[in-house]
Amino acid sequence: MSSSTLPVPQRRAMCPRQVSSSSFADAFDDARRKLDELGVQDPGEDEVLSPALSSSSSATDETASYSPGEVESPLSPGTPVTVPITPAVDSDVADNFAFAFDIDGVLIRGGQPIPEAVEAMKVLNGENEWGIKVPYIFLTNGGGKFETERCRDLSQQLEIDVSPGQFICGHTPMREFADRYGTVLVVGGEGEKCRDVAESYGFRDVITPGDILKANAATAPFRKLTDMEHANSRDLLARHGAEKLSDIVIDAVFVFADSRDWASDLQIILDIAQSKGGRLETRSETFDEGPPIYFSHGDVLWSAAHEHARLGMGALRRIVETVFEETSGGKKLKTHAFGKPQVSTFEFATRLLQQWRAAQHGLGASEPPATVYFVGDTPESDIRGTNAMNETAKNEWYSVLVKTGVYQAGTVPKYKPRKLVDTVLDAVNHGIRREMARLGSRKSTGGRMLPLDDAALKAVSDGRTPDFEMRVDPFLAAV
Ligand SMILES: [Mg+2]
Repeated sequence: MSSSTLPVPQRRAMCPRQVSSSSFADAFDDARRKLDELGVQDPGEDEVLSPALSSSSSATDETASYSPGEVESPLSPGTPVTVPITPAVDSDVADNFAFAFDIDGVLIRGGQPIPEAVEAMKVLNGENEWGIKVPYIFLTNGGGKFETERCRDLSQQLEIDVSPGQFICGHTPMREFADRYGTVLVVGGEGEKCRDVAESYGFRDVITPGDILKANAATAPFRKLTDMEHANSRDLLARHGAEKLSDIVIDAVFVFADSRDWASDLQIILDIAQSKGGRLETRSETFDEGPPIYFSHGDVLWSAAHEHARLGMGALRRIVETVFEETSGGKKLKTHAFGKPQVSTFEFATRLLQQWRAAQHGLGASEPPATVYFVGDTPESDIRGTNAMNETAKNEWYSVLVKTGVYQAGTVPKYKPRKLVDTVLDAVNHGIRREMARLGSRKSTGGRMLPLDDAALKAVSDGRTPDFEMRVDPFLAAV
């Protein structure tokens, strides 16, 4: 892995590991502090980042590229907290199950809440026939803003209070890389926003495509910086005390959010991928010495305001890899993606959920809830990741697919959910009903837990005791 040999100049904007009060890290750490006050320890927090991240299999191998768990995460799932605590527990809170939600296409579409989402949140917050509150978190591949900003938006849209302590977005995991790299290229998002987010994560020297275009307008012949972009972009030579751009070395590329100008961003990412060890304006003769390239997720499609799904950064990732191969004599490029469906992202979500349950609801933090219902709209990331997590986790991860986003009703997706429903409200009601039925079945079977399909669940709801599990493909039965 290349590393800048040039000293990184100090800048006023730099704030090594100094986390903004508005950042996810603050809220996350605040939740941790509350746990610490309760005498809870999490030995996984300070584990050394894994160096294996840059050695994943070829990104041109689609299975390998998108295989959950392919990238060994810097987010070590760690060891769950092990010291039992006995805080005051909300008596009306569900202690053995929880929900996790994707956002776009499930709760929000085109900046507006999906109508049933507001109702679904009310149900989770106690407006249900059992009067119970159910813990929940949000896990989105989206990004481009501070986590607190996105939480504020979500709070307004869903008419609830959303805390950064219950929120993970696509680039949240990238904060774990701030100490690893000196000079990084950050791509995507509106204006300077992603640079600001990266610096709040502790990245010390953040370069944007705008900085490179300002330094050499010929980099992308048809991209002209606006006056504001020109003013906001930094003078690379002066900041690095360099005489020429080739004195500046990019140690890693991070695509934080969707590109706003695919053509120039593609050109700049490719230039760096094909450079001599990340050195700007150089070209490798072997095309195998560029710095690592990270995308905050790999979703090719996402659900926006348009009737049909829109292209996401996973599409740009595919283009980068394809064009690299085309222009480097067949050499393949390895890029890395975080977010769903990576199992490591779900493991991180598990830790967050445990801490959120403890800090917010007074529940024990030593164990995850027995069942987590994950509600998503994209089979390739939401459902695939949840099902993969269910295979490896010690608790149950139950995938629910909604019809309000990327998934097209009537089609059979490659990755099948445990349950297909119309909206997020149906998903919430299904999960709660299933849990209540299981509770009923435990009572009626002397504590023995029965696996329930819909028929068995209905039997329990009707006051009968199910004595078998019908093995019906729930997805095919539903379409
Ligand atoms: Mg979605």
